[in-house]
Amino acid sequence: HKAKKNRNDVCLFQSDIETRYLRRVHIEQRLRGALEPHLITMAYQAQVDAKGRVVGMEALARWYDDELGYVPPNEFVSVAEASGLMVQLGNYVLDRSLEDFSTLPRQKAFPLELSVNISVLQFMQPGFAETVLEKLRQNHMAPNELTLEITETMFMSRQSTILPVLNQLRDSGIRLSMDDFGTGYSSLSLLRSLPIDELKVDKTFVDSINEDKQARKMVESIVAIARNHELELVAEGVESQEQADTLIAIGCQRFQGFFFGRPVPIGDVRELLTASVE
Ligand code: C2E
Ligand code: MG
Ligand code: MG
Ligand code: MG
Repeated sequence: HKAKKNRNDVCLFQSDIETRYLRRVHIEQRLRGALEPHLITMAYQAQVDAKGRVVGMEALARWYDDELGYVPPNEFVSVAEASGLMVQLGNYVLDRSLEDFSTLPRQKAFPLELSVNISVLQFMQPGFAETVLEKLRQNHMAPNELTLEITETMFMSRQSTILPVLNQLRDSGIRLSMDDFGTGYSSLSLLRSLPIDELKVDKTFVDSINEDKQARKMVESIVAIARNHELELVAEGVESQEQADTLIAIGCQRFQGFFFGRPVPIGDVRELLTASVE
C-alpha cells in the first residue's frame, strides 16, 4: 500500500512539474507576441504622504492574454528573465511609463515622482544608465523625478557588474529604491554596499503589524535603519486605516497600498491629479 501511494505521489509531483513547465513555455511564446503589438499595459499605484497627498506613483505591468487570461507580472517577469526577453520587456515598460508620466498635469509646488521596477538583468545590459538618461530627456523629465526599484533577488552574485551602473545612475540624479526590504537574506549587507535613497518595507510586515508584535518591532527597526542612514521609507501594501495609523505612529512618512488606491490606468491618475489641483 505504502509503495503504491508513494508511486502515485511521485507521478503527481512529476505531472505538476510538467504542468508548470508547459505553462512557462506557453507564457514565453505568448509574451514574445505581446511585446511588439503593445499588448502589455501599465497600471499606476499612488504613493501618499502622511497627509494623504499623492507624492508619487509606481508603474506596474499588466498583461491580459487572449489564451492565458490575466498573467501576474511576477510570473511573466520571471519567464522574461529566463528566456532572454527581459531587456526588451524592461525597455518597453520604461518607455510606456515615462511617456505616460510626461502627460500628467505638473505643478512646481506639487512635485510628483515615478517609480519603475527594474530587473537585475536590465542593470547588466551595457549602456543601461545612458539608455535611461536618454529616455528621460526624450520625455522632458528631470532625473530626480524617476526612482528605480531594485529587489535583492539575484543581486549578490551580480554585485560587481551592477554596482558601477547603480553609482552612475545615482550620480546623474536618479533615485534608487530597495524593494521588498526585509524579506531577503542579505538586506543589511546590501544596504551597506548599495548607493540607495529609499527602502520599501515589504507588505508581509505591514499585513500583520497590528496582530503580531514581532512584525511591528521589525517595522520599528526598519524605520530606525532608514533614519540612521538618511533613507526615505515607503510602507507597501497598506490595506486599512488601522495599519496606516500604526505606521504613522511608528514614524513612516510615505505609504502605498489598496487603502490609498489600487493600481489604475494613467487616465485615472490624470483625473485624480486634476481633481486635487482644482
Ligand atoms: P512590487 O514591486 O513589490 O509591487 C507591489 C505589488 O503589491 C503589486 O503587485 C501591487 O499591485 C501589490 N499591492 C500594492 N498594494 C497592495 C495592497 O494593499 N494589498 C495587496 N494584496 N497587494 C498590494 P503586482 O502588480 O502583482 O506586481 C508584483 C510584482 O511584480 C512587483 O512587486 C514587481 O516585483 C513585479 N513587477 C510588476 N511590474 C513590473 C515591471 O514592470 N518590471 C519588473 N521588473 N517587475 C515588475
Ligand atoms: Mg516595486
Ligand atoms: Mg515590493
Ligand atoms: Mg514584490
